[in-house]
Amino acid sequence: MDFRSNFLSLLLLFLAVSTTAQVRSDADRRMNGPAEPFKIIGNIYYVGASDVASYLITTKKGHILIDGGFEETAPRIEKNIEKVGFRLRDVKILLNNHAHYDHAGGLNYLRKNSGAMLLANRQQAEALRRGGKNDFAYENLLTFTPVEVDQVIKPDATIKLGSVKLKTIFTPGHTKGATTWVMSVNENGRKLRIVFQSSLSALPKYNLIDNPLYPDHAEDFRKTFTKLKEIKADVFLGSHAQFFKMKEKLEIWKTDKSRNPFIDPEGYRAFIERAKRAFESKLSEQKQQKLSSFAFPLDPIGQNKHIDSRQP
Ligand SMILES: [Zn+2]
Repeated sequence: MDFRSNFLSLLLLFLAVSTTAQVRSDADRRMNGPAEPFKIIGNIYYVGASDVASYLITTKKGHILIDGGFEETAPRIEKNIEKVGFRLRDVKILLNNHAHYDHAGGLNYLRKNSGAMLLANRQQAEALRRGGKNDFAYENLLTFTPVEVDQVIKPDATIKLGSVKLKTIFTPGHTKGATTWVMSVNENGRKLRIVFQSSLSALPKYNLIDNPLYPDHAEDFRKTFTKLKEIKADVFLGSHAQFFKMKEKLEIWKTDKSRNPFIDPEGYRAFIERAKRAFESKLSEQKQQKLSSFAFPLDPIGQNKHIDSRQP
């Protein structure tokens, strides 16, 4: 889920509670529109929907697929893989950037129909197996079809398949198990570092300062930002296409074939900075709210607000 899943879409979610969640709101539908699959760079292909991303990394020994979209996205991902000339059944490793219904909902379908091994760190594996139930912030509102994890991996594991080496970077905050991956490709004699970025948004229901179900929430976010700032990314991709301005970059590419617009180190740094600022402002807002509740503990009906408003 991202910051576009705003209050309205959350309200719709509340109204549309179901046992397993598929596309449930207009915001979801916008994120799950059709998209033409394409080669981004080297052996990396975009095979996701209009906004919820999915990436195919091909090798001679089989492929890696990152993210399954919504439950409804999965058959489309399968078709997109075929459109770029590969087969779902040759996918050997399945990964998930974070276990929310818009990225994990389709994993069960993709795992079953590919025979691939789903790898995840411990926190991620727990959330995937629960199908998002008992979430630290959204409880049972954003559930999805549970999926079995075949192998629990270390949070900083290196995943190898054929010629591909994918370095896992543990980036919790958006969820407890959120994961980013880094790999390199050779493009025109140049070695380029590719980052598959997880979500970094602090969602509306996140209580960053005193949630007993996630006491280190703010700390995790901070560590994640520090880690990500150290990465020098040449090509930056994300769990949502809007994070790395996919649509805009494709438009540029249509008219100027001389350079690949997905090579965008500046865009990566700007994205991290923007997300960090949004997090810090949410955190200070919550701290402020907590302070004022200490300052006026006997003000359940908002009297003090009234007093404040009379001051110059
Ligand atoms: Zn999310």
